[in-house]
Amino acid sequence: GIRPLIAGNWKMNGNARSAHELAEALRAAGPSLDASLLVCPPFLHVSLVASALLGTSVAVGGQDCHAKVSGAHTGDISAPMLRDAGATHVILGHSERRADHGETSAQVMEKAEAALAAGLTPVICVGETEAQRVAGEHEAVVGAQLEQSIPLGFITSGGIVAYEPVWAIGTGRTPTEDDIAAMHDFMRRELVNSWGPTASVTRLLYGGSVKPSNATAILALSNVDGALVGGASLVAADFLAIARAV
Ligand code: 13P
Repeated sequence: GIRPLIAGNWKMNGNARSAHELAEALRAAGPSLDASLLVCPPFLHVSLVASALLGTSVAVGGQDCHAKVSGAHTGDISAPMLRDAGATHVILGHSERRADHGETSAQVMEKAEAALAAGLTPVICVGETEAQRVAGEHEAVVGAQLEQSIPLGFITSGGIVAYEPVWAIGTGRTPTEDDIAAMHDFMRRELVNSWGPTASVTRLLYGGSVKPSNATAILALSNVDGALVGGASLVAADFLAIARAV
């Protein structure tokens, strides 16, 4: 089967000291796990976290990247810069980027192309809002996001997809186990239909209020190949408890 991936999205939290402490705590625990680990610190801390985790199996990623390699884009960070800082992955199209910065699926596709060109593994996020779920549009929304944001070469390069229902992020609410499994089965079907059998091993992560107490049940579901963890990834003991729930 697919080796599960537990990914931590630290979002805009911490400082150099806390980032280093968190990395050190993971460094010690990484080898004994049945899951692969990935941590995505703020840009400022990518380099120091990558240094702290050098020689371990814990991967480091960014939380976004620009579609261009370099140039006059004040405040932005490119995929080659992330690679140079020691990252191997990059989260793209997180709903907070879509909401705070108006990112579209078309832009996410361009960023994913840039990530692949730089040798980074993109983690593309999709997910419906609560209104879309209530209206029964969740599969249509997620299907369109997959179709519009996944570039050529993504599946064959080991690109990762994360299903994060917007209403489950940071709220303590999660879809039912049946609803998570149904969405992950749907995404698997859509990806295999679009990209062929290679997509049967594409990692599909669930994200949104994952914590130690619900991780075992969620990670056991059909086509759930890991988790993208926000809040609980900031506490090493919680993040590792989630990884041990695999
Ligand atoms: P929480 O785990 O804090 O709900 O965040 C999920 C998320 O957005 C991960 O990218």
